[in-house]
Amino acid sequence: MTTEISPDNLTGLLDLARRDYRELAGRGLSLDLTRGKPSPEQLDLSEDLLSLPGGRHTSADGTDVRNYGGLQGLPELREIFAEVLQVPAAQLLAGGNSSLELMHDAIAHALLGVLPGATSRWADQERIAFLCPVPGYDRHFALCERFGIDMIQVPMTESGPDMEAVERLVAEDPAVKGIWCVPKYSNPDGVCYSDETVERLATMTTAAPDFRIFWDNAYAVHHLTDEPVAIADLLGACERAGNADRAFVFGSTSKITFAGAGVGFFGASAANLKWLLANNQKRSIGPDKVNQLRHLLFLRDAAGVRAHMERQRALLQPKFETIARILETELGGTGLATWTSPKGGYFVTLQVPDGCAKEVVRRAAEAGIVLTPAGATHPYGDDLRDATIRIAPSYPSLTELEQAIEGLAVCVRLVGYEKQAV
Ligand code: PMP
Repeated sequence: MTTEISPDNLTGLLDLARRDYRELAGRGLSLDLTRGKPSPEQLDLSEDLLSLPGGRHTSADGTDVRNYGGLQGLPELREIFAEVLQVPAAQLLAGGNSSLELMHDAIAHALLGVLPGATSRWADQERIAFLCPVPGYDRHFALCERFGIDMIQVPMTESGPDMEAVERLVAEDPAVKGIWCVPKYSNPDGVCYSDETVERLATMTTAAPDFRIFWDNAYAVHHLTDEPVAIADLLGACERAGNADRAFVFGSTSKITFAGAGVGFFGASAANLKWLLANNQKRSIGPDKVNQLRHLLFLRDAAGVRAHMERQRALLQPKFETIARILETELGGTGLATWTSPKGGYFVTLQVPDGCAKEVVRRAAEAGIVLTPAGATHPYGDDLRDATIRIAPSYPSLTELEQAIEGLAVCVRLVGYEKQAV
């Protein structure tokens, strides 16, 4: 990434970066780019939810949504998200407000009960490991840590995880029971899995008979361009390959409607769904169907979801454009950074020279710009190259975002040139 600079030039560039940093630190900024939270303006798009279901309390099949029951969630809402998540409605569960919670529960149930296709509980195995494409989502890694699941890093490519590494690891080690995948507009680098990647995941030979793909399709409809990306249907591919039970599909409306009061989804084979429902029955007498009815009335159908996401895009796209413009102006041609231009999702990944990410994040924090901790994109917080920084632009206003990215660019120049000067 680094371009050759003469010693004289380097001194000049470093002096300039130091001056800019002093000026930045003196501004007394207080900006937060840490988490991918929707902004208040995005939440306002779904304000009508607060006055729904407006006195109605029955769903189309006559279910009284105020009562217990309906463990699988409202069928009409599942119909809408069947299309979005590429899972037949009969094999989809609509649950509480969080898909992360469903991922947590799926792992907990697999540890404590026997999965379809398994010969014993995961808790009875000496060692369990998951493949973790990196960079990836820190909360996936946190779940593994919580349950004592070893994490094996696999590099991401432009078309998904490095499939040669994945195929080798799942074939040789029966302790490898799962892989984390964010198949569309991945967190954090916006990668969309190619059809070939999906096919290879569905057909590969695994040493573990109870191997699962945790297909976290969190950004299924979160497009940022006029050319929405479509990914292949993993569940269908698994079925065709004779591995029907391999896929666990997750999604939610967290970044469609309200992040704190949306609906989470789990989709899988009929056998997997039966297994999940049997376990869930012990922990709940049914999900919040009032909220599900509210979502049904608000979104109406899959076309309604798409129209709503266009309104989300109108708020988000300028933020991504702002980041691209400022990074290009401030860091383009310096050889100090590369960054992603995602076609959807919530994040931009900034790559800085090896050994610089932590220091950039530290200097930015000292100047009042808080970023996701460097290393969070890797299992155990270990980005061995110390080069990856995740930018989450959704929450701050455009003006705040501009200030934050300009400031971040100053920090990249400061730390990058300081390192070259050593
Ligand atoms: N998966 C991914 C990849 C995410 O980025 C996020 C939110 N940052 C979640 C899951 C969280 O989903 P939920 O709100 O449905 O628990």
